[in-house]
Amino acid sequence: MKPARFEYFCPRTIDEATGFLARYGDEAKVLAGGQSLVPLMNMRLARPAIVIDINRIDALAYLRERDGALLIGALTRQRAAERAPVVAERCPILRDALHLVGHAQIRNRGTIGGSIAHADPAAELTAILLALGGEVTARSATGRRTIAAADLFVTYLTTSLDPRELITEVRIPTIPRGAGWSWMEISRRHGDFALAGVGVVLAMRGGMVAEARIGLTGVGATPVRASDAEHLLAGQRPSESLWEAAAASVRAAVAPDGDIHASAEYRKHVAGVLTRRALAEAHSRAEAA
Ligand SMILES: Cc1cc2nc3c(=O)[nH]c(=O)nc-3n(C[C@H](O)[C@H](O)[C@H](O)COP(=O)(O)OP(=O)(O)OC[C@H]3O[C@@H](n4cnc5c(N)ncnc54)[C@H](O)[C@@H]3O)c2cc1C
Repeated sequence: MKPARFEYFCPRTIDEATGFLARYGDEAKVLAGGQSLVPLMNMRLARPAIVIDINRIDALAYLRERDGALLIGALTRQRAAERAPVVAERCPILRDALHLVGHAQIRNRGTIGGSIAHADPAAELTAILLALGGEVTARSATGRRTIAAADLFVTYLTTSLDPRELITEVRIPTIPRGAGWSWMEISRRHGDFALAGVGVVLAMRGGMVAEARIGLTGVGATPVRASDAEHLLAGQRPSESLWEAAAASVRAAVAPDGDIHASAEYRKHVAGVLTRRALAEAHSRAEAA
């Protein structure tokens, strides 16, 4: 299939890109890696009159650590982040989750900013951004603002970004030194979107859980942060029954939809099972650190 006709712009700077977005508003779509937008256009589920290709804006591709966070330019390829030594060292849950995004060919083109802007409810990155309390910087022709992950994801494929805004940077807090982590997901085939997935970060102090972060994907219209389970875990001594209590809390908190791939009941069940397993894995990694 071929996309409907569109006009194509190829800005070289952020200001030029936000200028086009200001001029064309919701008639326009930003093209980053194209791994979600292009299939949608080819199937004519998206018919933007204007395509603004940001691939030549070199200033949008970088990855560095500063003040306890990874600062990732929106155009950074998912594969580049997956392979960056600083990600492996300071935020290994991000590396492990990125490794399960589609196939390597998709990650070679797909960008960090594109995945977050696309807001697929089964995406890995959105759940990690939410669980770790990350944020994005959005620029428009009239200014810039920071949007916390908790305020970004509205519903299926929908964020609180204005059509005139461009995500320029994604900020993902690194995990505390000595903390354990785990990313687990179930998909029908390697490379498919997750039917359900969970990310856990567990910081321990004096043999007790000091802080837990839990983010889920595939179990609702947006990524989910399991705040009740996080509270339940804090200050407690690790045990199988504690992990099971947290899993039960997650099962109670999520309200997935069923579709042709899996029923709602199955997704809910899997979310609980994965939470229990991910907590056990994160704990053993924290013990080994
Ligand atoms: C076969 C296949 C399997 C996949 N499996 C997975 C998977 O398992 N997990 C997963 O998470 N993803 C998966 N994906 C999607 C992939 O991760 C995409 O790369 C990602 O969703 C979109 O990133 P992109 O850079 O390709 O964005 P594009 O496709 O270029 O854009 C996607 C949307 O985001 C907007 N956008 C892009 N960049 C910006 C920006 N900087 N500011 C504002 N808006 C922006 C675009 O206008 C568009 O609406 C898969 C894709 C394919 C084709």
